[in-house]
Amino acid sequence: MTQTHLHAPLRGKLRLDEPMAAHVSWRAGGVAKRCYVPADLADLELFLKTCDGAVHFVGLGSNLLVRDGGLRGTVILLHGALNHIKLTAEGLVYAEAGVSSPKVASFAARHDLEGAEFLSGIPGTVGGALAMNAGCYGKETWQCVRKVLTIDGRGTLRERLPSEYEIGYRHVALRVMSNGEWGMKNGAGTPSPHYPSPITHHPEEWFVAAWFGFTPGDGKAAKKKAKEWLAKRMATQPLTQPNAGSVFRNPPGDYAARLIEASGLKALTIGGAQVSEKHANFIVNLGNATAADIESLIETVQAKVKQAHGVELVREVRIIGDKND
Ligand SMILES: Cc1cc2nc3c(=O)[nH]c(=O)nc-3n(C[C@H](O)[C@H](O)[C@H](O)COP(=O)(O)OP(=O)(O)OC[C@H]3O[C@@H](n4cnc5c(N)ncnc54)[C@H](O)[C@@H]3O)c2cc1C
Repeated sequence: MTQTHLHAPLRGKLRLDEPMAAHVSWRAGGVAKRCYVPADLADLELFLKTCDGAVHFVGLGSNLLVRDGGLRGTVILLHGALNHIKLTAEGLVYAEAGVSSPKVASFAARHDLEGAEFLSGIPGTVGGALAMNAGCYGKETWQCVRKVLTIDGRGTLRERLPSEYEIGYRHVALRVMSNGEWGMKNGAGTPSPHYPSPITHHPEEWFVAAWFGFTPGDGKAAKKKAKEWLAKRMATQPLTQPNAGSVFRNPPGDYAARLIEASGLKALTIGGAQVSEKHANFIVNLGNATAADIESLIETVQAKVKQAHGVELVREVRIIGDKND
């Protein structure tokens, strides 16, 4: 990894050939050609105005695999960069995208707000939680979002409302309007002929902050609930081995872990990657896994579950970058 000095007035850190294994929870994968850690939001705006080529936003990499051949574009690392959190005069929690989700939960409890407890066990950032609509124990991120702040590839900031997005299970997409622009100016929540269904994420717009609305209540009770849920995770998830949480979404009416276990795939190993013996929807790095081992195990599990149960498991984890030749 090489650190490069930037021309003023940029104040962040640009690193070349940065090993992404250090920035993803699987602790595997390739190198990013360029990696930028902005000094703050104003610095990120300026950087994007001058940046050419593909950009990848990364939070804590807890839902991400970077292939062994690495990434050609620029990775923007937000954790530890955009980390401002505060209570607004309206009683909302404003958190920048680099704040960790557990920190939002503890901040809310400290201010006697309830409803953020589920975030305490999700080891990612606010940006990642917004992009994934992360959730657990019956609660999802966007149920608490009142407004978000986004940035595009030209460094332009926009405030957007939840109604401008299609939001589902581990799915968030900005609606596209019939004139080709992004976003819903009428604020309606359902697609219409004029505002057809979303097709994908905006190619060049990312989350930089969110305003969360939680319920005034008992902070001590919120902390207790979060602690109980964490204990439950410790008992059921392989948290001592590098992993990326649930690899597959649960299919309607069923559980990916049940299907994987029923297909006899617990402990199936490819190279240094293994289907966890503790939780079948987790893949763990035994210590020396390559991204190719992990991806190959993912594909093998999908094929075997399809063969055994006729169900196509859909990946929850995101995979980016080039394969090694
Ligand atoms: C032990 C463990 C338990 C987990 N439990 C849960 C759980 O209970 N529920 C759950 O939903 N998930 C869970 N996860 C998965 C993961 O923690 C969440 O998806 C989390 O929200 C990802 O956040 P991140 O910052 O790590 O995102 P990353 O992994 O860094 O990125 C994930 C995706 O989001 C995009 N992204 C990141 N930041 C931004 C941004 N600012 N703007 C736009 N896009 C962005 C990335 O480009 C990438 O496509 C678990 C993971 C682990 C390791």
